[in-house]
Amino acid sequence: MKNQLVADILYQVADLLDLKGDIFFKIRAYRMAAQRIEDLDEDIEIVTSEERLLSIPGVGEALAKKIKEIVETGRLEYYEKLKKEVPEELLVLLDISGLGPRKVSALFKNLGITNIMELKKACIEGKLRDLEGFGEITERNILRGIKLKERTSGRVLLNVAYHDGYNYLNYMKKCEKVDRVSIAGSLRRMKETIGDLDILASSDYPDSVMDFFIRYYDVQRVLLKGSTKTSVLLNNDLQVDLRVVKPESYGAALQYFTGSKEHNVKMRSIAIKKGFKLNEYGLFNKKTDDYVVGESENDVYSKLGLSFIEPELRENRGEIEAAKEGVLPDVVSYDDIKGDFHIHSLWSDGSDTIDTIAENAKKIGYEYIGITDHSQSLKIARGLSEDRVNKKIDEINRINKRYSDFQVFCGTECDIKPDGSLDYSNSILKKFDFVCIGIHTNFKMKKEDMTKRIIRGMENENVDFLAHPTGRLIGRRDPFEIDVEKVIDAAVKTNTRLEINSFPDRLDLSDIYVKYAKEKGVRFVIGSDSHNIDHLSFMRFGVATARRGWLEKKDILNTYSVKEISKILGRE
Ligand SMILES: [Zn+2]
Ligand SMILES: [Zn+2]
Repeated sequence: MKNQLVADILYQVADLLDLKGDIFFKIRAYRMAAQRIEDLDEDIEIVTSEERLLSIPGVGEALAKKIKEIVETGRLEYYEKLKKEVPEELLVLLDISGLGPRKVSALFKNLGITNIMELKKACIEGKLRDLEGFGEITERNILRGIKLKERTSGRVLLNVAYHDGYNYLNYMKKCEKVDRVSIAGSLRRMKETIGDLDILASSDYPDSVMDFFIRYYDVQRVLLKGSTKTSVLLNNDLQVDLRVVKPESYGAALQYFTGSKEHNVKMRSIAIKKGFKLNEYGLFNKKTDDYVVGESENDVYSKLGLSFIEPELRENRGEIEAAKEGVLPDVVSYDDIKGDFHIHSLWSDGSDTIDTIAENAKKIGYEYIGITDHSQSLKIARGLSEDRVNKKIDEINRINKRYSDFQVFCGTECDIKPDGSLDYSNSILKKFDFVCIGIHTNFKMKKEDMTKRIIRGMENENVDFLAHPTGRLIGRRDPFEIDVEKVIDAAVKTNTRLEINSFPDRLDLSDIYVKYAKEKGVRFVIGSDSHNIDHLSFMRFGVATARRGWLEKKDILNTYSVKEISKILGRE
């Protein structure tokens, strides 16, 4: 289904026309058509092929032609042309939260601002507040938007790093001269954003390994080449460092280059207290400089009197103390997951049928899935009316009859309205196998009101999970103003599971809150928030977050069997 693609391009055309200062009616026509297509109950490709585009309100001959072009080719020549007419840097400004096309255009025309640096300077100097339509609050909002963008620039989201890092690793495994090879650094710890990629290899022939390394197909250029360290830049500007060590140092080097810095500082001080010296070459006797261990990470930890610490835990958040006492959690593993409880289907804003999703989930090895389409008032995402909820339940019942070893649970991602009431009546909520609630509108509320809104939502007896509890979008949107501690307390009290949303720009709850919430007694569910079947694999980033938050298998709903799930959800 290409509805969203068509709508996105039309929205962007409207933005560009707006930037250029084109006439209001033309801009509005594009926006309205985009909105209509987003809301459309049927597939735009079918409407196009049956030549019914003109029946969409607001779509005239000219727009119909453009929509047809997008549907057929995936792009729009007019849009490409418009993009060239506007300074490219201005488009970057559109990405800053708090700035729309009208404002960017005004900044350009009145103050000649074309890039982020100029914009920041003008905000700090208070030059925006006198412009029409701007004020001190706008200035502050824009500065905050810039800061958000800066915080993540130069870093990529975990899924991007994961994809590039593990592809590169697989390539390095093919090098005959490589003895052992692994991802190291923050990617091995599965941090939510990653700066550079680190790969570590052991070999007695480092120069051949380096030669092999720089011949990777995706290398844009070589930044530095030596026999212990080589750095390259990938085509997407991500830097990858390869270090090659002797086999006897591999474990110590892996420990060292995995980090975190804070974790390693503590490790080194323990080593010193015990009469050793720890570095990337191994663990040595402090007095004699004799090599003690270093071939495996496990040797290093155990020689220091610690049990092995999983990479995701190495952030100096108490893991070293726990390893010393032997009380580290038995963290959930990546293959403990038996299903996914946050998936959108074609019924709302997803792009696949429940059938297709089920088949793909089975291929992954899942035993069940929970489909969570949006609720009725979320028109942009084609939220389901009561009538369509009933039809969807019928469809899921039909699908379930076909399987003996797989189950589809019918859920909803029900909107929490600004006053904390839910978007469906209790009688509809009871029809679902499970109810997940979340906030998708009115993000800007006072902290106290937002906290009350979420808690009131959780207090509804039909609610099972709270989706993406803080609403943050990494690099794009700060969390809602909420009192997270209070929400966590309420989750325990109302027996609502908090979601770890695995979508790479969410990872919400974040690792630190997960750990805190677990200590308070919260239980969890991990969802991919898939909008198409390719997103199902995002689950691993949610599991990584759970591991970083010290969760064990028993803390997470979707590690249980179908039988246990039905019992837990209490709707057998
Ligand atoms: Zn959502
Ligand atoms: Zn969702």
